[in-house]
Amino acid sequence: MHRLRHAKLVATLGPASSDAATIRALFEAGADVFRLNFSHGSHADHKARFDLIRATEREVGRPIGILADLQGPKLRVGKFAQGPVQLEEGAAFRLDLDVDLPGDACRVCMPHPEIFRALVEGTDLLLDDGRIRLKVERCSPTHADTRVIAGGPLSDRKGVNVPGVVLPLSALTDKDRADLDYALGLGVDWVALSFVQRAEDIVEIKRIVDGAAGIVAKLEKPSAIVSLEAIVRESDAIMVARGDLGVEMPPERVPSIQKRIVRACRKAGKPVIVATQMLESMVSAPVPTRAEASDVAAAIYDGADAVMLSAESAAGKYPLEAVRMMDRIIARTEIDPFYRDAIDAARSGPKANAADAIGSAVSQICAVMHVVATVAYTSSGYSALRLARERPQAPILGMTPRAATARRLALAWGVHAVLCDDVTNVSEMTDVACETARREGFGASGHTVVIAAGMPFGAAGTTNLLRIAQIS
Ligand code: PEP
Repeated sequence: MHRLRHAKLVATLGPASSDAATIRALFEAGADVFRLNFSHGSHADHKARFDLIRATEREVGRPIGILADLQGPKLRVGKFAQGPVQLEEGAAFRLDLDVDLPGDACRVCMPHPEIFRALVEGTDLLLDDGRIRLKVERCSPTHADTRVIAGGPLSDRKGVNVPGVVLPLSALTDKDRADLDYALGLGVDWVALSFVQRAEDIVEIKRIVDGAAGIVAKLEKPSAIVSLEAIVRESDAIMVARGDLGVEMPPERVPSIQKRIVRACRKAGKPVIVATQMLESMVSAPVPTRAEASDVAAAIYDGADAVMLSAESAAGKYPLEAVRMMDRIIARTEIDPFYRDAIDAARSGPKANAADAIGSAVSQICAVMHVVATVAYTSSGYSALRLARERPQAPILGMTPRAATARRLALAWGVHAVLCDDVTNVSEMTDVACETARREGFGASGHTVVIAAGMPFGAAGTTNLLRIAQIS
């Protein structure tokens, strides 16, 4: 069994999608990677979901990626004495460090001392996903007096964004460190880091993860966009986290930033996920809006590796319908005759090395003759990713002896990962590739496959061999 599309689908699990039957149904409907959102739920909840995904993987016989998404330094206000308060435009409102004093219409606690030190007069604070805007008029290390620029109701624990300020915060809070430790203990394939501000944030988490999982940088701060190339270089994959990005920046800037990020990732050959509100109305309706369908398709035309569902699959009324719909939009977009022109238009040239030269040659062969599958023998996943970077017309069989690599490749554009034993010579390599392409349903006797591999076999970083072969 294989998917009839190149781009991948990430589905967040949550209360609406945590039983064995639903997880299996979501996989069968098109989910390639499941996201465990550590902003919600207990460790026990995540472990239960993790175990069910691995059980599904055993049942269906396909590698499934698991992404642990760490909350990061999300700032929040404290609690109010008597439910939500109404902040009126023009009114004064104070934020302070007094955790023991419940909030009212004049003040509330914001329990983040380091933030007060970073505020200056004139800084804008956005509360509740940007619905409320405050401007700092006076500040000290213990409080900030603000003016309400845009008012509205404010309730317990609502988020605070400080756009345009590089905050003196590590991207890993104590909670993140504990969650990371737990997620690595479970054996997740990817770890996503929220509110990345600088490349050093990635270096810090890489030291802890030490190769046990791939690192996804979630780009949702303006400062991350300033350091885009450096962050992409340090990360294994990127998520365009449009929820917070669209709070930290005006919404009209999100589309061009999304395109810029996707292009930078494609150039670097790092998987890129476009996330948040893709089919948002399906949280409560069985069909999406036409605009949402177009939004998913736009990411596919740009050549994104993956598109993601959040609340739609985690907490909505129609998780299965949302995955099915997203799967259909991707597949339909990819058979549009203009799709190839669109993804080729945003392509950048290969690097001057053997892996990229071979990847680009494989892709060129697919454009010249009918190829049913390309095959990358890969240990770490690197060769398959370099081939995926070229966005070849034919699917990519990622042949690997490592289960961890196969699962990680679930996120990569066009890659159908298959576990195989090590091969020891060219004829065995060819036979195994052709037989796998046939067995997995890509082609039949007489069909052409193109194989990229490295000799000596089994040694990392040796891609130096290209072979065109026919399935016997
Ligand atoms: C986002 O802000 O778009 C996002 C993906 O992050 P989270 O869902 O963790 O808030």
